[in-house]
Amino acid sequence: MSLRLFNSLTRQIERFVPVHEGEARVYTCGPTVYNYQHIGNMRAYVFADTLGRVLSFKGYKLSHVINITDVGHLTSDADEGADKMEKAAATSGKSAWDIAKFYTDAYWRDIERLNIRQPMKWSIATDYVPAMIEFAKSIADTHCYRLESGLYFDTSTVPDYGRLARAATDAGESRIEAVEGKRHPTDFAIWRTTPPGETRQMEWDSPWGRGAPGWHLECSVMSEALLGFPFDIHTGGIDHREIHHPNEIAQNQARCGTPDSGARIWMHNNFLIDRGGKMSKSAGEFLTLQALVDRGFHPLAYRLMCLQAHYRSELEFSWDNLAAAFTRLKRMLMAAERIPPADVAEVADKRIAAELKAFEEAVSDDLNTAKALTHFEAVLSIKGLDPGRRRGALTAMDRVLGLRVLDIARTDLRIAPAGASITPDEIEASMAARGKARAAKDFAASDRIRDELAVAGVEVMDGDPLGWDWKLSSD
Ligand code: AMP
Ligand code: ZN
Repeated sequence: MSLRLFNSLTRQIERFVPVHEGEARVYTCGPTVYNYQHIGNMRAYVFADTLGRVLSFKGYKLSHVINITDVGHLTSDADEGADKMEKAAATSGKSAWDIAKFYTDAYWRDIERLNIRQPMKWSIATDYVPAMIEFAKSIADTHCYRLESGLYFDTSTVPDYGRLARAATDAGESRIEAVEGKRHPTDFAIWRTTPPGETRQMEWDSPWGRGAPGWHLECSVMSEALLGFPFDIHTGGIDHREIHHPNEIAQNQARCGTPDSGARIWMHNNFLIDRGGKMSKSAGEFLTLQALVDRGFHPLAYRLMCLQAHYRSELEFSWDNLAAAFTRLKRMLMAAERIPPADVAEVADKRIAAELKAFEEAVSDDLNTAKALTHFEAVLSIKGLDPGRRRGALTAMDRVLGLRVLDIARTDLRIAPAGASITPDEIEASMAARGKARAAKDFAASDRIRDELAVAGVEVMDGDPLGWDWKLSSD
């Protein structure tokens, strides 16, 4: 069964044929670390992780790189505004380097909490500045020109500039502010020379003066250095289809001297939106993963919420949607707990084999995780079968979904909302004491414990169908 993926370059579903037999090399545009990541950003990494997991499931040896943009990204995707890192440094009083470290660590914590696998390499942009200068030197004479503010890429020197965006004339160009002296509105800075009399916290010497690399240059350089051109798949959020990725492609074409794009397949996840529209960091107000945890939601509920939608569809965030995903995850864990542990991990049963095949068919069809989830649940609920066989199939499936359904317990999903005065362990101890009192028909004692718990904000839910016998109210 072949793997089919939607290629944004051709706007078509294509059969995945690796550049190097048996291998899959994937580059993912990573975060700009001047602030916390919001849950929309994290959707991009759940998507890239799912792609990587599907490639591994299909038997490819995966080499995945995710970069950390710690320099170069301006407040607009084009050449306008200040460097996001420098701006954050100016407003917070911390150094740009400290800010980068702080938010990179916060991002990595979220990666772990969402059970996103570690890539082969986290490439940190500032580690590659010498390589960026070499890359820029190799294309400077043939494809670039100098202005006072830096070295600019002349987009008319490559064939088909903006083919990926398909909107170079409207949405694309209109977002690019004119820089005086630019030959074409779509031309972009690959090196930004520090203006005379100014110093930046992050700057390097180059043939074009002291300054900093352009954001687009970073990804071309790191993907070439770590994966080699051409590599298989380049991913990012759908906003990158308009400017960042067309610019990377232009640089790659210049570097290779061919019309090829550097990566064979370009894949983009759609946005997480909320009622106010696209969630964005620059808009100021946004939700972090921690904000969900503070309301008592386990991070994996958010992962499941992402998997319930196709990555190419917009996904609307609401607390109700998140709560529904959380309930679904609890049900999965409850079903998994009923399957006793067993050693035999074979998938010989016909019903299980059919579900596993349908699961593979779904994920091979441009990562249809919404459908794959239903086959996972079907195996969870099949009755009267050898537990070992079911566990074998479920393990294989959850390696793709990453929901940890077989290795965490329902109690691990319990998270006390921020500000709760009592810990889950203390609640469990009181619940056990209450259970004992009830068994001994000491209803006065059992009611007293229930009242004490209520004062601490814990609602006792006897006979809850999800076996979720208490809940901490976050209000
Ligand atoms: P940034 O840190 O701004 O460079 O963004 C990191 C990643 O998140 C990029 O791949 C963006 O395209 C993606 N992204 C930004 N906003 C959203 C959103 N609301 N929903 C999904 N992906 C997003
Ligand atoms: Zn990038």
